[in-house]
Amino acid sequence: MTEGTALDLATARVGSGEFTAVVEQTGGDVRLTDADGTGLDPWTTAVWLAGRNDSIRIGLPAPVAAVSPEMREKAYESFEILAGSRLMTGAQRREGIDYDGIPASLADTAVAPGDPGYRARKSTYMRGGSPGLVLRPRTPAEVADALAFARDHRHLPLGLRSGGHGFSGRSTNDGGLVIDLGAMNDVEVLDEDRRLVRVGPGATWKQVSAVLDKYDWAIGSGDYGGVGVGGLATAGGIGLLSREHGLTIDRLRAVELVLADGTPVRAGAEENQELFWGVRGAGANLGVVTAFEFEAAPTGDVGWAQLVLVSPDFEQALKQYGEVARNAPRDTTIFLMAGPPREGQSVIQLYGMVDSGDADTVVERLTPFASIGQLAQQQVVITRYADVMGQAADVGAGGHHGRGEPISRSGLLPVLTDAFARDAARLLRSGQVFVFALRHMGGAIADTPPDATAWAHRTPEFQVTALGSDRAGLDRVWDRLAHHFDGLYLSFETDQRPERLRDAFPPATLSRLRALKRRHDPTNLLRDNFNIDPEVEK
Ligand SMILES: Cc1cc2nc3c(=O)[nH]c(=O)nc-3n(C[C@H](O)[C@H](O)[C@H](O)COP(=O)(O)OP(=O)(O)OC[C@H]3O[C@@H](n4cnc5c(N)ncnc54)[C@H](O)[C@@H]3O)c2cc1C
Repeated sequence: MTEGTALDLATARVGSGEFTAVVEQTGGDVRLTDADGTGLDPWTTAVWLAGRNDSIRIGLPAPVAAVSPEMREKAYESFEILAGSRLMTGAQRREGIDYDGIPASLADTAVAPGDPGYRARKSTYMRGGSPGLVLRPRTPAEVADALAFARDHRHLPLGLRSGGHGFSGRSTNDGGLVIDLGAMNDVEVLDEDRRLVRVGPGATWKQVSAVLDKYDWAIGSGDYGGVGVGGLATAGGIGLLSREHGLTIDRLRAVELVLADGTPVRAGAEENQELFWGVRGAGANLGVVTAFEFEAAPTGDVGWAQLVLVSPDFEQALKQYGEVARNAPRDTTIFLMAGPPREGQSVIQLYGMVDSGDADTVVERLTPFASIGQLAQQQVVITRYADVMGQAADVGAGGHHGRGEPISRSGLLPVLTDAFARDAARLLRSGQVFVFALRHMGGAIADTPPDATAWAHRTPEFQVTALGSDRAGLDRVWDRLAHHFDGLYLSFETDQRPERLRDAFPPATLSRLRALKRRHDPTNLLRDNFNIDPEVEK
């Protein structure tokens, strides 16, 4: 074999010792050797590194031309499967962060660039990120410590993270701080007679539903069990049981939070009522919620439906869906999702729940929906709410690996009119939207008065979401639909123009929230999600 280019593939430390595997590349040939020059196949090398070392750093010094970013990524992924918690990244610590000043209570769990586990903590489900420090409190006292550290680093972005599924809430950032509440994920039944359940913000709805299933209870969440409790239960929660039991926040009976100045507070019907009002819709602005107390609803078997329909006329199909959904009883919630038409055909997915274990009832409820296009596929099962939430993938020790920034718009649609169906079909033909989704509201959501919680838009029929890949392009086509909407749901909105805040919160709600913000976070420490600036309108 002729001498090849030597690339330092992997350097690993064992205590104070060091092991280096060298990859030699000659044309298409790649050879790995250990320090004695013995040839090793890549798998053996990887297993050796993963098994023998406290920490592993993958480095690719020059010349690296032969190693594409994809190969580098693959190397990370392989090592992550073998030894994710020991894999160090090449990332550098950031300027302007007092790493030596990390509070003692958080020092052993904090993760900084370069640390093992950083890759698993830096990004979220929807976003790529490279924060300068991830603090991982386990108790409200540790949350207070994390907030104190954040107050000392006010110049940096501050992300709050529970389940890491935020669109609007930036639970990662570039060079800033993240307070990651993932370890606070207990689910505890407090009072069986009252179906009172206490849930930590870091639990996922999959975990919550699995515990409640043993009692034949459920707390309606969103449609995906991987979503975290902290983000959803502070913003709203439109889900498959909402038409029957209300938004997720409507099932809240109390919350415990740590305010920006580190004070622990309990808010509910009996104490701090105004704060409790604000947390239910604008929680991310008011404090870090460390526990939620919900009243679960009794739930038995449910019908779970996934239908795929094809239609040459999306506008007509959408009108028909609107009509059928409007006449559906509260036990039935069917969401619609579609992409752009291809070769003149739209593929429409309908998925949702009938809160009944009776097969005849389920079929009766679903039949009108199945006629909005040509039924191409169907799966209807009688199952448990927990099994529907359980379909979500577990994240595992490797964490999330989102990339880039999500680009998403939201609108609350009072009525699905013919004009809206026409304009929505035009939106999909624009090529700017790759996912268009309608979440059916109504029913019990509207039973709660608009001023009872900070989530004031109680009467719209649908929540409409559009996902795109070009921000300006999506805004251009979406903004043409603005006259159809009355407000938005902040969980699905990523437009940061200031008017969106007024869409999220009507004037009376917004001025009440500003008063709360001035009282509980006057220096605007918590600002990563639809920021209510305390200085405005003083
Ligand atoms: C695949 C998918 C499906 C979804 N489906 C639905 C759905 O059907 N219905 C629905 O209503 N929503 C849905 N959502 C939106 C979801 O509710 C929001 O994205 C929510 O913010 C995610 O919560 P999280 O804890 O996982 O997110 P994170 O990214 O951890 O948090 C998002 C933001 O919430 C705030 N926050 C988080 N934790 C706390 C806390 N403890 N205290 C105060 N503020 C906090 C912060 O601003 C944070 O940046 C969906 C999202 C995804 C990705």
